[in-house]
Amino acid sequence: MTRYMIQILILLNINLFAYSQKKVAITIDDVPNTIRTKYYNKPILSEKIDSLKIPVTIFINEGLLYQTNIFSKNLELLENWAQKKYVSLGNHSFHHSRYSTIKIDSFKTDILKGAEISGRLAKKYKKAYDYFRFPFNDLGKDSVQQVQIKQFLDLKGYQIAPFTIESSDWMFNCIYEHYLNKGDQIKAKQIGELYVDKTLDYFIFFEEIARDEYNRDIRQIYLCHDNTLNTHFLPILIRRLKKRGYKFISLENALTDRVYKQENTYFKKWGISWIYRWINDGAKRIELMKQEPSMVKVERLYDKIMNSD
Ligand SMILES: [Zn+2]
Repeated sequence: MTRYMIQILILLNINLFAYSQKKVAITIDDVPNTIRTKYYNKPILSEKIDSLKIPVTIFINEGLLYQTNIFSKNLELLENWAQKKYVSLGNHSFHHSRYSTIKIDSFKTDILKGAEISGRLAKKYKKAYDYFRFPFNDLGKDSVQQVQIKQFLDLKGYQIAPFTIESSDWMFNCIYEHYLNKGDQIKAKQIGELYVDKTLDYFIFFEEIARDEYNRDIRQIYLCHDNTLNTHFLPILIRRLKKRGYKFISLENALTDRVYKQENTYFKKWGISWIYRWINDGAKRIELMKQEPSMVKVERLYDKIMNSD
């Protein structure tokens, strides 16, 4: 091989690398986790991610501030998140209701009520506050409901926050906390590690669909929650994603990818990935969903634990 050819290959590799730069925005729902306030002496997620130095967007349920009777401590917890430089803020409603199951006026009230304190915090820390993430990603039971609420959100200056990847971290967290409460550190660690492995599987799965659909890596948006599991395992997941070539970007940055300009063509209430929502062919969408990494083992374990607690 000539030196010239090698140079071409090196150049090509560099280009290929640039072409396949993987990027993801980390988004965290159901903030603040006020149940944790009774464990103030234990680490909480907001403190753990300080060391990760990556941008994150949190979606706040203000109803959680009133979940325990120590409002001032809960507010302190939320403010602790809000003041951080790398944290962007979003609205996740007050009551965390499923939009498809309640009247639109109640849902509108819930959106506005969910912004009272966080809106003030956003102003105080000079941050934007213009994303809304639907609880359960339930955008409405049909196109009429979906259009109605979209018009309201537009009017109020909110952009719907999509996601492309999630891995049922809430389910892993229930199992994880169950083992921690029982003092079974070994099983807790195993389920935490399984969460990281499965999440990586989901990343690979959605990367492949994106490449099939768009011939490139898209800017992904990962959805997870403010919970004990992520306090301990999100840093590990972040490390694994870095090894996979991921760079961590803000939600705002992710949304500049033109894929997010596409229409949501899914008019049902289920909280599926936007990668599916952009696929117009319903049969193809279902076929892809069937190929998702299997969660059967975890679901069975979850059912067993829920029935026994
Ligand atoms: Zn939520």
